[in-house]
Amino acid sequence: MSKYFSRLFGNEGVKSRLGTAIKDSTLPHAFLISGPDGSGKTTLAKEIAAALNCEKRGGELLPCHVCNTCRRIYDDAFVDVKTLKRQKDKMTIGVEEVRLFREDMFLSATESDYKIYIIDEAQRLTPQAQNALLKVIEEPPENVIIFLLTSSDDAILTTIKSRTQHVSMQRFDVDMLAEYFTRAGGAEHIIDKNALGELLMCADGRIGRAKELLGGGADAVFAMREQTEAFISALKPSTPYSVLYTTIKSLPTKRDELTDSLESITVALRDLILLKFNKDAPLLFYPVREVALALAGGITSKRLIKIYDIITDSLDDLSKNVSTSALLTNLGARIKLI
Ligand SMILES: [Zn+2]
Repeated sequence: MSKYFSRLFGNEGVKSRLGTAIKDSTLPHAFLISGPDGSGKTTLAKEIAAALNCEKRGGELLPCHVCNTCRRIYDDAFVDVKTLKRQKDKMTIGVEEVRLFREDMFLSATESDYKIYIIDEAQRLTPQAQNALLKVIEEPPENVIIFLLTSSDDAILTTIKSRTQHVSMQRFDVDMLAEYFTRAGGAEHIIDKNALGELLMCADGRIGRAKELLGGGADAVFAMREQTEAFISALKPSTPYSVLYTTIKSLPTKRDELTDSLESITVALRDLILLKFNKDAPLLFYPVREVALALAGGITSKRLIKIYDIITDSLDDLSKNVSTSALLTNLGARIKLI
């Protein structure tokens, strides 16, 4: 296990590579960290920020997590670690916001050796905003480190990708998540082992998501799982379209909830698609392999993949402010055409 960045669970290869780079002073100055929400992107950026500015740096543990600087970085109270986030009422991060952020990079550091700039949801940067970043990513001011965090690489310009070091966050299987919560605590209130297993499967390999689910979302999760299971069973070609239509119409219409639901469906579909190619593939949705195998057996891989594409398209539309009821109608119509 890597001795660096102990707050970040797993991701051993990344931790060891970046920890060594900090020790050898060869750390790149711009990163693209990708992974779904709750997969540890912010934690990794903060771990690096703390390691670079930790008052005890040079010691064996990077970072120490107890010095004043480390603590302030984690409390978002350290002036030389800045985060650019999308404003709540906007769908994108625009060029003006990026310009202001960029100007700040050229001011000298207030109290530390390294200034850290984190851009959250970088997939929301408009192309113009990304272009405004290009120059500074290419030649950042000295001792400036930039982190672009994204849940979708597709929306990042190739020119940005080629100028940043790419880090992909690890997804965890249920056993690893269970190990995490045994070590860190937080899952003691769910006594039933099977229920805990199902809940952790819903976290889709992400610790942050698992924490949310364990923190009170259990009932909602089981309801969402039932919905997902109903949707998948209705995909069998023998099922009348009216049944599938009813299932689609019963999906939530609140944007956040619909996003969670569609994501849950993509995870289930991914399991079935994987099983088509490898019966022993690790599963993220179905706790019982035989159940998943039976479902996969009843639907062709071509159909599964097409539906998977339709659902991911819908998720994309959902992030673009399309009305949820129009989106569900369109979803039903597209599946009907397959
Ligand atoms: Zn420290």
